[in-house]
Amino acid sequence: SALPLSTSSTDPLEILLEVFGYTAFRGPQEAIVDHVVGGGDALVLMPTGGGKSLCYQIPAIARQRAGQGVAIVVSPLIALMHDQVGALHEAGVNAAFLNSTLDWAETQDVERRLARAEITLLYAAPERVTTPRFLELLDGLAARQKLSLFAIDEAHCVSQWGHDFRPEYRALTVLHERYAGVPRIALTATADALTRADIVERLQLEQAQQFVSSFDRPNIRYTIVEKKDATTQLLRFIEREHEGDAGVVYCQSRKRVEDVAVALQDAGISALPYHAGLDAAVRQKHQNRFLREDGIVMVATIAFGMGIDKPDVRFVAHLDMPKNIEGYYQETGRGGRDGEPADAWMVYGLQDVVNQRRMIDESPAGEDFKQVMRGKLDALLSLAEASDCRRVRLLGYFGETYGSGPSDAGPLHGANGPLGGQRGHAVPGMGGTCGNCDNCLNPPQVWDGTDAARKLLSTVYRVQQQSGISFGAGHVMDILRGKDTEKVKQFGHERISTFGIGSEFSEAQLRGVLRQLIAIGALAVDTEAYNTLKLTDGSRAVLKGEASVALRESVSSPAPRKAKREK
Ligand code: ADP
Ligand code: ZN
Repeated sequence: SALPLSTSSTDPLEILLEVFGYTAFRGPQEAIVDHVVGGGDALVLMPTGGGKSLCYQIPAIARQRAGQGVAIVVSPLIALMHDQVGALHEAGVNAAFLNSTLDWAETQDVERRLARAEITLLYAAPERVTTPRFLELLDGLAARQKLSLFAIDEAHCVSQWGHDFRPEYRALTVLHERYAGVPRIALTATADALTRADIVERLQLEQAQQFVSSFDRPNIRYTIVEKKDATTQLLRFIEREHEGDAGVVYCQSRKRVEDVAVALQDAGISALPYHAGLDAAVRQKHQNRFLREDGIVMVATIAFGMGIDKPDVRFVAHLDMPKNIEGYYQETGRGGRDGEPADAWMVYGLQDVVNQRRMIDESPAGEDFKQVMRGKLDALLSLAEASDCRRVRLLGYFGETYGSGPSDAGPLHGANGPLGGQRGHAVPGMGGTCGNCDNCLNPPQVWDGTDAARKLLSTVYRVQQQSGISFGAGHVMDILRGKDTEKVKQFGHERISTFGIGSEFSEAQLRGVLRQLIAIGALAVDTEAYNTLKLTDGSRAVLKGEASVALRESVSSPAPRKAKREK
């Protein structure tokens, strides 16, 4: 079905022009292509939309033309395989895929062409690649030196620290062990230092050259606001800034996906739900409409999005907080792939912190694993609580200093990972702010919450001392603000020495203090005991005044102490 190529140049730039119709390589593409064409191993970290596909497609074509046979592309996503193979066919490249959508006869046909090395790029799922049957085919090719390279897409799937661990990726080490001379290129759009190290170790890429692009997505505007009534806030956000635009709204549960989709529909917005509980046919239909029609808002769980390449998504909204920064970056990265302005908008509140912590605590994983997950969650919490530039923090998490491209400090860029010229674009004179996030555009008021934090913690302590049991956040705040509630009277809590000593703080302010104390681990919520508050080892530093607590003043909350002034 594929057209014969008009020429057979092995020059990457000529292939770029002749096959793909592009006149120049982008960023580090050329260096990566040269490296792989020359037979080297590579680990490529490039943001979504950066142009990863050409990094292995061009070497595959060049090496095939030089008589070096077939490139095997490992990809976890069937939809993506179809798209890429379709596009390659249109460009006249002999590509094929092997996955569960093919019937027996089709599979046999592809296998026959593969055995004859008549395919330039073969896409296959990881579980397929490591079957004895497939390895036997590869053995036959390897014996005749007809295996040109292995490309491992979405390489973060090999790491349990990544956000999309797929155990079948682990078995891919067999490729290196069995076909040691065949170059490998692993690619991912997201990997923090830990995941990156894990990819190197798990895929035995110690000798691979690392190509790290800047992860900055300058057209995406990051905004994180305090969650009040999430659905209403979302409606207002869409009506104010994104009427008629395509967008994705992420929610944590299927139920919430359904509810939010209905609420948006009721408000006249073309919203569709998407989650793993829906029929495959319904999911497919909604996905197709999202891709083909204008202005569809997809309300979805994280089951939606990977491998979906829609260029004009104008906003990605999070109504619930993701697990970690990698997930947040990956999901928000689905906006603005066309380079036009897009919004990454998230509402976040105390309940998110509590939920995410609980999911870690209750997971069946080992304690070491949980500790890593908590660390990753903490990093996201500090991004959410930050009152300085979000972009600086986000990129900092990926080891990048904003304005100077990826940092080459740190163990991952050591001896075998020269960055030689692969640095991101420098933005001189930005002075650590991006001008395109909520905090840069509207610097929040910051107030010193240290005093409030100490008062809150000592109230938790005294209540526990006096009553022998713990209480929830609402009651503790009532005591602090000196409110004479039934519950206060019932337990005699008006006699506690901290009763009323926090009356100058609004409830919104105290909730902010509470959230931040929980976020920094200075206070815990015991979800097994009616969400009661418990002191932690981290509480002491705050109580002793050794740790300070800076808080952003919630812009939309009522001005503090206003009631007093009106008296
Ligand atoms: P990624 O896999 O990194 O998300 P893709 O490989 O899908 O990115 O590329 C994103 C888009 O950029 C595609 O439409 C691709 O055709 C285009 N592209 C990639 N490299 C170039 C280039 N050198 N010149 C022009 N367009 C390019
Ligand atoms: Zn900023």
